[in-house]
Amino acid sequence: STTKPRTLLALNWKMNKTPSEARIWGRELAQRFTRGDAELAVMAPATHLHGLREALPGGVDVGAQDVSAHESGAYTGEISAAMLADLGVVYVVVGHSERREYHGETDAVVAAKAGQAQANGLTPIVCVGEGLEVREKGEHVAYTLAQLAGSLEGVGPEVVVAYEPVWAIGTGKTATDDDAEELASAIRAALVERYGDKSAEIRVLYGGSVKPDNIASICAKPNVNGALVGGASLKVEDVLGMNDAL
Ligand code: PGA
Repeated sequence: STTKPRTLLALNWKMNKTPSEARIWGRELAQRFTRGDAELAVMAPATHLHGLREALPGGVDVGAQDVSAHESGAYTGEISAAMLADLGVVYVVVGHSERREYHGETDAVVAAKAGQAQANGLTPIVCVGEGLEVREKGEHVAYTLAQLAGSLEGVGPEVVVAYEPVWAIGTGKTATDDDAEELASAIRAALVERYGDKSAEIRVLYGGSVKPDNIASICAKPNVNGALVGGASLKVEDVLGMNDAL
């Protein structure tokens, strides 16, 4: 392929920082950040989104880490896509492996969440990826593509896909560049089959122990269009390092 969509550096803070710390972080980034070739977005806890959006430099987007599968109503504790959209949120992570594992989210739930996001103008970042047992059996491609198909059921092409092998998340055990490319290219082919020409703008990210010193080579792979970063997303210093490396 000749044209790659613009690289996305998506930061996944997970359940870290307070809203006040997030604002301070956003202001520090605003002071030190120089816009590079990649697009930058911060996925923060819902409590942080309003303040963080005001503190971040222009052009850096905010995203949420989850969204309700329902539109509105009697769902105590949940946050709807319309609520996030009203705050100026651009992205929402759906189907992160931590939500699939600890909250029992199925592919159908993930697809419903992605659909709610899109119906409200948000771009879902749909996460897929195999665990260690699947990888060791050599079934990682088939497993991940089946998960992707289920998670995109009824979902339109305004989507980002993140391939995050569970064994590489928070473990310091990064997939090799070639492992990332193997899945990214398989995912790309599935997206072309599903969406045709409309798949051209879809970014396929890699996630799992990405940091300043490995991000450039992973994102240089032909079918990898950015990264979803957890641990290395918390310090401004690391984020500047990753942004500069892209
Ligand atoms: P990690 O997390 O970068 O700490 O491995 C990635 C993720 O869970 O999105």
